[in-house]
Amino acid sequence: MRNRQIRVIGLSLAVLVTLASPGLAWGITIIQHPAQKEPSMALSVSNAIAFYSCYDVRSGAPINCTFTHLLIGIAAPVTDLNNNGGHNHYSGVRPNLLGGRQVEYTADQDPTPLGVSGLTLGAGVPFRGAAVYHPLPEVSGNLKAYGSMTLPFGWHCVSSCFDEISWRFDIVFDVGVGGLEKLTVPPMSNYIVVRGDEATHPDGVYGTPSTLTKLQRIAANYQRKTERQLSVNDISLIKGGLMDFEANWIPPHHSHRRGFDVDINPTDGGGVPIACFQNTVLRGIVEEVAGGAARPLLRCENKSGQFVPPDDPTGIYYHTQF
Ligand SMILES: [Zn+2]
Ligand SMILES: [Zn+2]
Repeated sequence: MRNRQIRVIGLSLAVLVTLASPGLAWGITIIQHPAQKEPSMALSVSNAIAFYSCYDVRSGAPINCTFTHLLIGIAAPVTDLNNNGGHNHYSGVRPNLLGGRQVEYTADQDPTPLGVSGLTLGAGVPFRGAAVYHPLPEVSGNLKAYGSMTLPFGWHCVSSCFDEISWRFDIVFDVGVGGLEKLTVPPMSNYIVVRGDEATHPDGVYGTPSTLTKLQRIAANYQRKTERQLSVNDISLIKGGLMDFEANWIPPHHSHRRGFDVDINPTDGGGVPIACFQNTVLRGIVEEVAGGAARPLLRCENKSGQFVPPDDPTGIYYHTQF
């Protein structure tokens, strides 16, 4: 039998592709994904797609390779906040790891939920290769998957090969909200950060650049008028997405997913406790910065976390929407 040369077209990754490094490690950055969803938004599942295909390098004709694809979980080291998405806690099952669905392939021969295997030209496959669907989670992080592909008898591999007849790939799905920056607290700043869940979510003050700029302007005005610092609590985690300050994978923060929402503490940096409904000074400053626009908007919350009108005495907590 004559050996013919072939090579791999892809693992090509649809959605938005970043090649992490040439060779065998691939990364994918997802900009639009369920981590951005507010509970009020309609839930639709976003997929990342890994595409397995091999072909004859001379004719371009597709070849029927076998392949496997397995979701491993959070990329190592799991304590790296970029990998765990800022969730430095590991009890219970990280929910919606797959948006409630499994890794899917039309002609899957693997019965386990996190893996698929089959033929790249399997029955009913509409492409010139196998498209593996990854429903994406609301919880941000770097998710690692592992893929392999093996040639049928008589063929051999010519590029990016693991051995004569196969390929192996590490794939990292970088799931998160793009463009968030950390709120820095310089010395002599007119605000401080006081948060309660430092052990489980050590870094929860990431916001959009515009949110942070306006927040700093509010803090400067607050200090000018009161001679006290504003005390900032949660904004968003390093990659945004679901924020569960009780570390139970349930979102008590209904928003705080995209870097637009900032909690302010009822006791300010000067140690003065002021409930939200009484704080007309801060409300005036926020309205001034908004300049007639709808945002930023100071919202008051009651003990159950529900928004109440600004003058409602049950509205003791602050939540600012930018
Ligand atoms: Zn968490
Ligand atoms: Zn809040």
